[in-house]
Amino acid sequence: MKLIDGRMVRKEKLEELKEKLTKLQNKPNLVVIEVGNDEASKVYIKQKEKLAQELEYNFIYKHFREDITEEELLKEISIWNNDPLINGIMIQLPIPKHLNSTKVINAINPLKDVDGLTSINAGRLIQNMPGLIPCTAKGIIDLLDYYHIPIEGADAVVIGRSLLVGKPVANLLTNRNASVTLLHSKSQNISYYTKNADIVIVAVGIPYFLTKEMIKENAVIIDVGINRVKDKLVGDTDFENLKDSCSYITPVPGGVGPMTVYELMNNVYLARKLQKNRN
Ligand code: NAP
Repeated sequence: MKLIDGRMVRKEKLEELKEKLTKLQNKPNLVVIEVGNDEASKVYIKQKEKLAQELEYNFIYKHFREDITEEELLKEISIWNNDPLINGIMIQLPIPKHLNSTKVINAINPLKDVDGLTSINAGRLIQNMPGLIPCTAKGIIDLLDYYHIPIEGADAVVIGRSLLVGKPVANLLTNRNASVTLLHSKSQNISYYTKNADIVIVAVGIPYFLTKEMIKENAVIIDVGINRVKDKLVGDTDFENLKDSCSYITPVPGGVGPMTVYELMNNVYLARKLQKNRN
């Protein structure tokens, strides 16, 4: 078994990004919007701010009270959409239930949609056209590529079909000519699919979900899950029991997680380039 070291890959990728940033006259600008007071969101925003500072991005944090109306929030987004100095806009999810998250996300100018969640960017991904790609999904593909894990022709199983992870990673794998099966909570007999898979990507948010009995020898396992069990972070795989049966596996923490924030910063850089090409 070989560990996929997300921290090491991220470090190398960051050096490459820093090199590209030295060629810019001014650093990219990112707006992160938070609504309400979700504790986990605050932690994720801090991580983003820290990396943005390391890259010398201009990081603008906008916090809105829990009871902001949809109309007010849409108005705020349109201000940032129309500000030519702003390259990236992202809304930290989840947002309060009274707001229609699909509508709010789709209010972001697709050229500034650094989370890659607007319908336009999702459609471009399905059509295999250039666009901004959801960060965790892109991070997974970068990890597979870094370790020269073959994607073309591979049998890949993705468990979880969220817009953030499962669906985009299934599309990215399809675009790279893998044969992809996308599973979810209504799927029958998940083991039937995972036992035949060369690559299993699990993003369900259930600790120890994927077990040794469910995979074939030497499969590649990508564990996206972040779950807290007795004050310890664990993924969606039964890591200790499964690790010796697979060829590669991502640990939690230290696997997919570190890539996600890097990909966000890379998307801000890419968004800036897309916007310059439009001018
Ligand atoms: P999500 O939106 O809650 O989606 C979970 C998916 O898992 C859904 O598609 C759901 O199916 C499926 N599912 C739930 N129970 C299942 C079961 N028993 N069998 C098969 N599928 C099942 O979650 P998410 O945002 O994709 O996140 C998934 C996990 O990844 C979470 O632990 C999250 O914290 C973590 N995460 C990590 C990163 C990172 O950077 N490492 C980034 C994002 C998320 P239905 O569609 O049928 O409900």
